[in-house]
Amino acid sequence: MTELNIDHWWQPFTNVRAFRNNPRMFTRAEGCFLYDDKGRDVLDITAGLWCVGLGHARAEIADAIREQSMTLDYAPPFQFGNPTTFQFAEKLAQHAPDELSRIFFTNSGSESVDSAIKIAFNYQIARGKPAKTRMISRQRGYHGINVGGTSLQGLPNNRKGFPVLDTVDFLDDTLDLDQSAFSRGLPEVGADKAEQLKTIIDERGADNICAVIVEPVVGAGGMVPPPAGYLHRIREICDEADILLIFDEVVTGFGRTGSPFAAQTFGVIPDIMTTAKAINGGTIPMGGVFIRPEIQQAIFDAAPTTMPELMHGNTYSGSPVAAAAGLAAFKIFEREGLLTRASGPIGAYWESALHSLRDIDHIIDIRNCGLLGAVTFKSNAEKYPAGAGVAVHNKCFENGLLARGVGDGMVMSPPLTISESEIDLFIERYRKSIIDVFG
Ligand code: PLP
Repeated sequence: MTELNIDHWWQPFTNVRAFRNNPRMFTRAEGCFLYDDKGRDVLDITAGLWCVGLGHARAEIADAIREQSMTLDYAPPFQFGNPTTFQFAEKLAQHAPDELSRIFFTNSGSESVDSAIKIAFNYQIARGKPAKTRMISRQRGYHGINVGGTSLQGLPNNRKGFPVLDTVDFLDDTLDLDQSAFSRGLPEVGADKAEQLKTIIDERGADNICAVIVEPVVGAGGMVPPPAGYLHRIREICDEADILLIFDEVVTGFGRTGSPFAAQTFGVIPDIMTTAKAINGGTIPMGGVFIRPEIQQAIFDAAPTTMPELMHGNTYSGSPVAAAAGLAAFKIFEREGLLTRASGPIGAYWESALHSLRDIDHIIDIRNCGLLGAVTFKSNAEKYPAGAGVAVHNKCFENGLLARGVGDGMVMSPPLTISESEIDLFIERYRKSIIDVFG
C-alpha cells in the first residue's frame, strides 16, 4: 500500500502538530467498538462524538442510504419537497414533545443553533417586538462553531480570537463540587442559581431580550446535569418575562437521558429545541430544529404571501438520503426500545459502575445522568498542562478505550446499545488507565 499522506486534511479541534508526531487512525467500527490501523479494538465509550447512539455499522441504515441514493439521491429543498423527508419529519414529531411539532432540517448542531437564533429573532420581529434582540446563554455551554453559536459559547477558549455578537449575557454554570460532588443523577441543591436569570432580565429589560439558550445537561463543557428544579424555574422566569426558551439538545436528544428528549425527561418544554448528532444514528450529517407551531404561524402571518416566510436554509436542509437514514434509524430506536433504554436497568448499571471508581484518590467528582457520565480529577497544571483528563484520555486510547478528556475532567456517552459486560470492560480499562497515569 502507498504510504498515507497526512499533510492535507486540517482536522477540526485537533492539535495537528501532535497528531502528525503520533497519528491515531481508526479504520473500522462495529457495535460499541472502533478498530485502529494496528487492528486493536477500542471500546467507544463516547459513541463517536455523542452521535453513534445505535452503535456502529448498522446494516439497515446502510441499506436505506443505498436504496434512497439510487431512487432519489437529491432534490432541491427550496420550493420543492420529497416524501422521504416529510415522512421523517412526521416520525420525529411523533417522538418529540407534542408542543414542538414543526421541524426545520439542518446539517449539524452548529447550523441548528444558528437557525434557532434566526427563527427566534424573526419571531420577535413578526410579533411586533423588534427590540427583543439580546440572548442569554450559560457559562460552560457549548453551542457549536458558527458565529451565532460561537457568540453563545460559555467556553472562553472557543470564543477567543473569533468574531462574536456583543449582545449576549451569561448565566453562571451550575457545577458545584463543594455541595454536589458525587451526585447520582440530578444534584439536589443549586436550583436557586436560576434566579440569576431574573437579575439579568432586570438589568437589560425584558423588552430587549429575545431568548435564553441552555443545554438541559451540559455536554462538551463537562457533562453537568441540572440541579433538580433548575430548568423548571428557568422556564417560569422566561414565561413571566415573555422570553423564548431554547433547549440545545444536540447531545441530550434521541434517548441519551432516558426519554427521546431531555425536555421529556425533565418535564420542561422549551419553545425551540436544537438537535443533530444521533438523529440518524450518526451516519449522514443532519440536524433538526423543533419549533412550536405558534412561532411558525406568527412568522407566516407576518410574511408577504409571495415570498418564502423564512429567508434561511441550506442546500442539504432535509436531504432525502439523510432522512432515509433517519427513518431506518428510528425503526431501530423503536424496535430496540433505545429512546428510553437509559432510564431502565442499564442506566442503573451504568450509574453504579461509574460510582464504583470513587475509591480512586485522584477522582474528586463523578456525575451521571441517563447514559451520560463524567469524572473530574484533581488538578495538577504543572504536570498536566492540557489537563489531567486529557492525560487520562491519551492513556485510555493506549489501553483500548475511547473516552473524551475535557480539561481536568472526562466525559462519557456510550452507544445506547451498550451491554453490562461492555460497561464492565469500560470500567476495567478505565481504572487501569487512571492508575497508569497517576500511579
Ligand atoms: N450544540 C451542542 C450542545 C453540542 O454539543 C454540539 C457539538 O458537540 C453542537 C451544538 C454543534 O454540533 P456540530 O458539531 O454538529 O456542529
